[in-house]
Amino acid sequence: MNEPGKNVLKDLPPFKLPPLPYAQDALQPVISSSTISFHYLKHHQKYINTTNEIISGTAFEKSTLEQIIKSTAQESQYQKLYNNAGQTFNHWFYWNSMKPSGGGIPQGATGAAITRSFGSFDSFAKELFNTSSKLFGSGWTWLVKDNSGSLKIINTANGDTPLTMGLTPLITIDLWEHAYYLDYQNKRDEYALSVINKCLNWEFADINFGG
Ligand code: MN
Repeated sequence: MNEPGKNVLKDLPPFKLPPLPYAQDALQPVISSSTISFHYLKHHQKYINTTNEIISGTAFEKSTLEQIIKSTAQESQYQKLYNNAGQTFNHWFYWNSMKPSGGGIPQGATGAAITRSFGSFDSFAKELFNTSSKLFGSGWTWLVKDNSGSLKIINTANGDTPLTMGLTPLITIDLWEHAYYLDYQNKRDEYALSVINKCLNWEFADINFGG
């Protein structure tokens, strides 16, 4: 069993479901226990199982999750593996991007970088929400750091991950329907806003931000 919060990118196959960093009901009322249960135990597990099945008996069996993601990006013959390996990472990152009683204004390195890059926390929070609202279809909204240390907000579609774009992810929000439909039905914006205001884990962002 992995430790909670331990980055899965260096994991070797067969990949295992990493522990949730909190109890399944810990994010209520923003995200219900049943949403977490389906999302974590069924969806996340399925991406991991499919990744393990595809790489079984191939050279990828000796590769870390990070190596698999980076070497299959943009390779059409590996698209299914890339999508599932990407989702294996993205979901670990999402669980850790949230915590009970999260949100608020970050005080650490990420908070300072947000002020430098967006002018104020309020401008940043508006842009994060507006960007999430613009995503069409299934995907993710991310706060990322580029090579110059500037922060940006981007969306990725389906299982795409900023790891393959030379960007360091700091925080993410899952915008696939399975992340919110039991609790919010069609009101995706309400879900995204609640996660932004009440669940974001800025200590996790600071770990990703690094020194
Ligand atoms: Mn998901």
